[in-house]
Amino acid sequence: MRGVAVRLTDSWREVLRRRADGAAGAWPQPVRQLLGEMAAASMLMQSNIKFNGALVLQIMGDGPVKVAVAESRPDLGFRCTAKVVGDVAPGSGLPALVNAGGHGRCAITLDPQERLPGQQPYQGVVSLVDADSASFGALAGVLEHYMLQSEQLDTRLVLAASDDVAAGLLIQRVPGEGGTQGAVATGADALEDFNRIAILAASLTAKELLELPTLEVLHRLFWEEKLLRHEPQTGVSGPRFACTCSRARVAGMIRSLGADEAQGILAEQGQIEVGCDFCGQQYRFDAVDAAAVFAAPGANPPASPTVQ
Ligand SMILES: [Zn+2]
Repeated sequence: MRGVAVRLTDSWREVLRRRADGAAGAWPQPVRQLLGEMAAASMLMQSNIKFNGALVLQIMGDGPVKVAVAESRPDLGFRCTAKVVGDVAPGSGLPALVNAGGHGRCAITLDPQERLPGQQPYQGVVSLVDADSASFGALAGVLEHYMLQSEQLDTRLVLAASDDVAAGLLIQRVPGEGGTQGAVATGADALEDFNRIAILAASLTAKELLELPTLEVLHRLFWEEKLLRHEPQTGVSGPRFACTCSRARVAGMIRSLGADEAQGILAEQGQIEVGCDFCGQQYRFDAVDAAAVFAAPGANPPASPTVQ
């Protein structure tokens, strides 16, 4: 059995503070809770796989939350955002937020850090309903279902988020492993072990997960189990808020709009202003900046002088 526990505190508060300080203002409470759980889950999944690239957990919703995204990278930098349209009723759960019409989807994308030419990111998509067409009540159920469906891995996830802490615990049955010193538990024994540990993990309440230090959570749940613990990654080597936006990337976006479109925006608004949805950074390009974007060597696909 393998497990990962995550507890985001300062970094999670920074996400909420940046949003609250921005023009759009704070997300409604149910959206903050969903995003916190997504941030914790993306970090758990990133830590649980050996993959050199970003893990992007995304929900395309058909309720008031149209898109919610949490992205974690191998250096444990993470960022997240959500786009909300209309009112969010207090206390809204996952179905009301993102699956009001039953068409919500959850996607997990693995985007390699150094993509080879022509290489596409791997993406798995699941609906937000279980085998009996009932909406999952919470994100943990969706992701457990995804792991079982896509990787055939029995997984137990506990997620919780408040305005101060976003936390999670992941327990997974590792195929082909299961013991030490040659005492490998197989078949029925391994399943029994997993079930026992999964039941212990599932007994963890959101309140405990949010309020107790990780070591105490592990001790309370698994004090009768043989537990091998890795050194926790905290401080500079631990999870932190980090955005990968840059002026160069925004310049690339403007370039992809095309010179005519860019000129149109400049004529109308005097400048091109692009805000990052993840960190709140505003990028402004005036006419001179925009001209430089299109003048940069290699900026344009070679234009034919005769064919427009
Ligand atoms: Zn940004």
